[in-house]
Amino acid sequence: MKGKINMKYQSTRNSNLNLDSAQAIKIGIAPDGGLFVPVSIPKISDEKIASFASLTYVEIANEILSEFLTDYTEEELKDCTKNAYTKEKFETDEIAPVYKLNENEYILELWHGPTCAFKDMALQILPHFLTKAIRKTGEEKDVIILVATSGDTGKAALEGFKDVDGTKIQVFYPRDGVSDIQKLQMTTQEGKNVNVSAVEGNFDDAQTGVKIIFSNDEFNKEANSLGYVFSSANSINWGRLVPQIVYYFASYAKMLRDGYIKNGEKINITVPTGNFGNILAAYFAMEMGLKVNKLICASNTNNILTDFIKTGIYDKNRKFETTISPSMDILISSNLERLLYLLSDRDDKKVSEYMSLLNKEGKYEISSDIKEKLTSVFYGGYCDDTDTKKTIKNVYDKYSYTMDTHTAVAQNVYENYVKETGDTTKTVIASTANPYKFNESVLSAITPDASLDNLDEFELLDLLNEKSGLKIPNSLGLLKEKEVRFKNSCKKEALWDEVKNFLTK
Ligand SMILES: *Cc1c(COP(=O)(O)O)cnc(C)c1O
Repeated sequence: MKGKINMKYQSTRNSNLNLDSAQAIKIGIAPDGGLFVPVSIPKISDEKIASFASLTYVEIANEILSEFLTDYTEEELKDCTKNAYTKEKFETDEIAPVYKLNENEYILELWHGPTCAFKDMALQILPHFLTKAIRKTGEEKDVIILVATSGDTGKAALEGFKDVDGTKIQVFYPRDGVSDIQKLQMTTQEGKNVNVSAVEGNFDDAQTGVKIIFSNDEFNKEANSLGYVFSSANSINWGRLVPQIVYYFASYAKMLRDGYIKNGEKINITVPTGNFGNILAAYFAMEMGLKVNKLICASNTNNILTDFIKTGIYDKNRKFETTISPSMDILISSNLERLLYLLSDRDDKKVSEYMSLLNKEGKYEISSDIKEKLTSVFYGGYCDDTDTKKTIKNVYDKYSYTMDTHTAVAQNVYENYVKETGDTTKTVIASTANPYKFNESVLSAITPDASLDNLDEFELLDLLNEKSGLKIPNSLGLLKEKEVRFKNSCKKEALWDEVKNFLTK
């Protein structure tokens, strides 16, 4: 692109790799198992950041994305952003609104997209990056996306790929392993290029079945002869990380526009963290020039990252806890690998060593120089289910604002951070899910005495509507009137037959 350097991508386990972004997005993960990272981090000047205050979300996205995806033309990127971030899909012009809770706390609502969780911010645009990447790398076939899901990712991917030219998407979910509402969300999916099937088995069976298809030469050939190549919408794809950088700049721009901060003023950012993607995007924003004081990494009782930030030891030899913030129930935060790469000044040997230790022993310890850099930027804390519910209730009583369980973890950790440090820096709290998505936990927090056991999902939505005054999102409210389109269920050995049927239709 004009005036900009041509950005290349290396692997966290091989800094000699030198690929265009389209190639990195197309293949998703580096051949050595590492993750793609840009060879340098572009800088955005203070004046330019100030100028974002008068831009729309889509315009800010164009500015940020064009720094990283330099092998895409300006027109191509504009086409991606304008199709991804529409009022129709996000039910708001602002796309990611900022809600002022008090003088110091600003809630960045990332859940206005079609599936009510922040994954939409990336999965609405990835399909557009990907279809363009396929053509740009000379591929003439269409893409078939295969997804095994335990619930949320499948729906977000379906919504993202729905009716995107040049793609088809097949989602497999475990027949008895998703909630009623998740199942209904998927089986009523609209779009002419989608297929959804239950697998007679658990999530692992579905995931294993999909991995087998990806790696089977015969299946690859058959798909090719039908005019398709396989691809995935995996969460470590660079095409899912880069759109997340945008909303941190957009939230700063919004705070400037509304006079909450002056240009150049530092902010904190608090993120409820699982796979470390969302908070890593905030780190990229900071390295690009966004004025950040601290990045506050909030965990639930799967507090492996809290311990890591405190001790420099990453140790996954611990019990996996099931919590009311399930999207953060994770013991291997894949995107941390990218941070280690950057903090070690791109030491691919060191990163490979840590990752191989993690693989073999479930544990590694970072060197003291990396640890020092880590703690100069990141603060880590965690919050259990009881405190999560207390926080939802406190915020509801004090501000008449209803937050979901994941956001409440972040809120709680932020409050503890302030108690500990006395820091009064204005703080953005990333809010990752619509409270309706976790209606039962949220209701039991704000109405601890109500009996919810006999209410079905739709009665819960109505009750939360009454208590919160928040509009029920169309994507959930209208679900019960929708036609169930996909009733197929298949044996775990027969996933390929299901895909083949779909491709020949
Ligand atoms: C995925 C998810 C998270 C965790 O985000 P990471 O990028 O994996 O750290 C937090 N909250 C919700 C609601 C999510 O869906």
